[in-house]
Amino acid sequence: MDLYEHQARELFAAHGIVVPRAEVTDSAKEAREIARRLGGRVVVKAQVKTGGRGRAGGVKLAADPAAAELTARQILGMDIKGHRVGKVMVAEPVDIDREFYVSYVLDRAAGGFLAIASAEGGTEIEEIAASRPEAVARIPVDPARGVTSAKAAEIAEAAGLPPRTADVLIRLWEVVTAEDALLVEVNPLVRTTDGRILALDGKVTLDDNARFRRTRRDDEADDAADPLEAAAAARGLNYVKLDGEVGVIGNGAGLVMSTLDVVAGCGARPANFLDIGGGASAQVMADGLSVILSDPAVRSVLVNVFGGITACDTVADGIVRALDTVRLTKPLVVRLDGNNAAQGRAVLDARAHPLVEQVTTMDGAARRAAQLAHAA
Ligand code: GDP
Ligand code: MN
Repeated sequence: MDLYEHQARELFAAHGIVVPRAEVTDSAKEAREIARRLGGRVVVKAQVKTGGRGRAGGVKLAADPAAAELTARQILGMDIKGHRVGKVMVAEPVDIDREFYVSYVLDRAAGGFLAIASAEGGTEIEEIAASRPEAVARIPVDPARGVTSAKAAEIAEAAGLPPRTADVLIRLWEVVTAEDALLVEVNPLVRTTDGRILALDGKVTLDDNARFRRTRRDDEADDAADPLEAAAAARGLNYVKLDGEVGVIGNGAGLVMSTLDVVAGCGARPANFLDIGGGASAQVMADGLSVILSDPAVRSVLVNVFGGITACDTVADGIVRALDTVRLTKPLVVRLDGNNAAQGRAVLDARAHPLVEQVTTMDGAARRAAQLAHAA
C-alpha cells in the first residue's frame, strides 16, 4: 500500500527525521487558518499518490493566508495523472540551499535492499538517472546487517551527500524495518540556507503482507487503487487488473498464471488475473463475472478450470447460476477438465447459452477467446 505524503512524513517524524511543520485539510477556508497558524507564508501541496505534483501545478507557494486559501481552492479537485486531489497539505516553507535524493527500495532479485542516493535531487531525478547514471549511487544493503553508521557514511560518500545526512539515512532505514516498508523515498531531502537537513517530500510503500503486524490503522481508503480492483476487493475476490482484452477466471493461482501466459501466447493480452480458488460457489462466479464484464476493455472471457477437489460439474453449476444473475454481454469460453469434466460439460451444454462456448483444451480455449476478442 502506498502512503500519502502526509502519512509518510508522520512516519519520518516518528523516527526522528526532521520535516517542516504542516497540516492537512480538504477545505480551502481551513487552508487559510492553517497558513495563519504557520506564520502566513506557506507551501500548498496536493495530496495524491503519484509523483511529479510540482510540475503538474500541485505544489505552490502562497505569500499569505488569503493566497493560501486561493491556492488551495485551485489545487483541490485538480486532476494529477488521473488522481483527483481530495486534500492539500499546508506546510511551512523552507529556504532551500541544496536538494538531495535518498531512498531504500526492496531488490527482490538480490534478496536485499538497495540504497539509491544522489546529490542532485529534486524534480529532475528520473532524467538525471537516465542521462547521467553516474550521478546516482546505488549501494546494496544487506537487511540482516542493516544501515550502520559505517554503511550510512558509505552511502553518503558514494552519492556525494554532506556527511551530516548519514543520520537521516540511518533513521530512514529504521522506517523500512519498523514499518515493513518496500520503498521509502525522500525527494527532496534538503539542506536549508540556515544549514538544517529536512525531508521535504516522502513516498512510502508498505508491505501489505505485514498488515497484521501493524498497530497503526490504515484508516484512509486507498483511493489510488484501480476502481475494478476496489470493486473486486469489496467482494473478497483475488483479482488483479491487467491491461488486455481477454478476461480470465480460473481456479488456483498457478493455473491462472499459466492461463495468462497461454492467452499472451495466442497473441492476445489478458485483462486481469482472477483466481476463484478451491470453492466454486455461484456467488463467487457471479461476482467475478460481473467485475470482469464491467471492465470496458474486456472483449471476451475465458474460464479455465481444472477440477480437483472441486469437481467440474460443481463449477458448471456455479457458472449456470451466475448466468441467472449476471447479464452476459461478451462471449464466454469455458474449458473444463479434470474431475467430473464430462458431467460439467453436460451441465453447460444443457444451459445452451448463446454466448457460452466450450473448448476442451487449455490452448484451444485460449486461442478461441483470443479470436473472439479480436473479432469483437
Ligand atoms: P513532487 O513534485 O510530487 O515530487 O513534490 P515535492 O514535494 O517534491 O515538491 C516539488 C518541488 O517543489 C521540490 O523539489 C522543491 O524544489 C519545491 N518545494 C517544495 N516545498 C518547498 C518549500 O517549502 N520551499 C521551496 N523553496 N521549495 C519547495
Ligand atoms: Mn518530490
